Amino acid sequence: MATTAGEQMLQTAQNLIRQTGKTLNLSEAEIEKLLTPEHIHEAMLEMELDNGTKKSFQAYRVQHNSKLGPYKGGIRFHPQVSLPEVKALATLMSIKCSVAGIPLGGGKGGIIIDPKSMSKTELERLSRAYVRAFFDFIGEEKDIPAPDVNTNGQIMSWMVDEYITSKSKVHKVEKSKIDAEQLSKWRGTFTGKPIDIGGSLGRTEATGRGGVIALKALLSKLGSNTKFQNAKPTIAVQGFGNVGYYFAEIASQEGFDIVAVSDSKGGIVYKNMEPLDIPLVMGCKKEKGSLSGCYCVGGVCDLRGGRPVSNEELLELPIDILVPAALENVIHKGNMAKIQAKIIVEMANGPVTEEAHDYLVEKGVVIIPDVFANSGGVTVSYLEWFQNLHNEVWTEDKVNKKLLELMTAAFAPIWERYDRTKTSLKNAAFEVAIERMTT
Ligand code: NAD
Repeated sequence: MATTAGEQMLQTAQNLIRQTGKTLNLSEAEIEKLLTPEHIHEAMLEMELDNGTKKSFQAYRVQHNSKLGPYKGGIRFHPQVSLPEVKALATLMSIKCSVAGIPLGGGKGGIIIDPKSMSKTELERLSRAYVRAFFDFIGEEKDIPAPDVNTNGQIMSWMVDEYITSKSKVHKVEKSKIDAEQLSKWRGTFTGKPIDIGGSLGRTEATGRGGVIALKALLSKLGSNTKFQNAKPTIAVQGFGNVGYYFAEIASQEGFDIVAVSDSKGGIVYKNMEPLDIPLVMGCKKEKGSLSGCYCVGGVCDLRGGRPVSNEELLELPIDILVPAALENVIHKGNMAKIQAKIIVEMANGPVTEEAHDYLVEKGVVIIPDVFANSGGVTVSYLEWFQNLHNEVWTEDKVNKKLLELMTAAFAPIWERYDRTKTSLKNAAFEVAIERMTT
């Protein structure tokens, strides 16, 4: 039988853990423990549709590893959700939290559902049903879910509300009489919440901001290497959603030249590769609906001559740094030889296939692995949880400073190991993470 995408993802994650375990001389039993989720919870969520009929939806919560702290990971609503996929994502969350140096373990959840086929009221009932089904297994000290594909702050606020309703019943206290400290703690069971119910400032930009922090940390280490010396490195970003946009905007504020950006319909670049004005480009995307219509609109094109660029071509441009921030497996056997960038920042999850990764590393390309590059999001989720547990509300500036501090500290041991072993930053990150999870 053909392997599904979820099974493939799980195999890849497990292979990496096995390989790393062997490098670290772990016993078979220790490796097996890292491959096996601690708990797998499954439920059929029964709910009433708007037309009065009843329907059931398969839901999961996988709790992979809690060595470093409570489980942490998003809840995905998607028709292709499967148990192997949720296991793979939970496993990678354990690695990511460990790489990030935050006191959290790995978990993930999902519901097999096409959310686009549901009304807002149906989505609310489904979100609440998920919380009731897994109520005993989640909690601010047990397992802390967050948004993922097709889930957002609105869904978190329904989930928080349902959780607090159930908690108040268990504790026999009226919802309106819960004291502020207790309420803040219970709200800490979910992150990615709207600000007014305990969400953190800076969370929206955190993944992109973290990517820029990761890139700057790398460049400061590569400083003496002439191959990477360039006063104003040029960057191409694939994907102009939450991650790609904030990466591009913050990187340009930090003095990098973003010379090409794209979304699902294609991208834009100036003929002579001059830097783009990112807020202007975003303004145009909002107006036109996609970047492809923006290559010659208003100030974006002007006298410098903007032109459209396909997503394939964008990856192969003669730039210093490539930032895939959209989909998985976009750099693969078919295009790896054409990549000209010297550094790749994996902002999407798994944008470079294993084969392309090994080929490019062998060629001297430095790849910042996804488990570190895009860990800014989970790091600020940790800060949101921390604020909730201590009933605090931090300024955006404080959150950003803490993110910088945590990610800089997280990079140091990865670089130190990479410098010593001369394999890849991905191997180094996995080794650092797994060592922390086993010692
Ligand atoms: P998003 O939905 O906000 O944006 C995705 C972007 O990718 C959009 O601009 C879309 O047009 C573009 N896109 C879609 N198909 C494309 C294609 N074929 N070629 C080029 N662009 C294409 O999603 P996001 O939150 O920005 O997430 C992007 C990636 O980052 C995903 O892999 C996600 O798993 C990963 N990630 C996100 C976060 C986070 O905090 N949002 C954290 C860690 C990892």
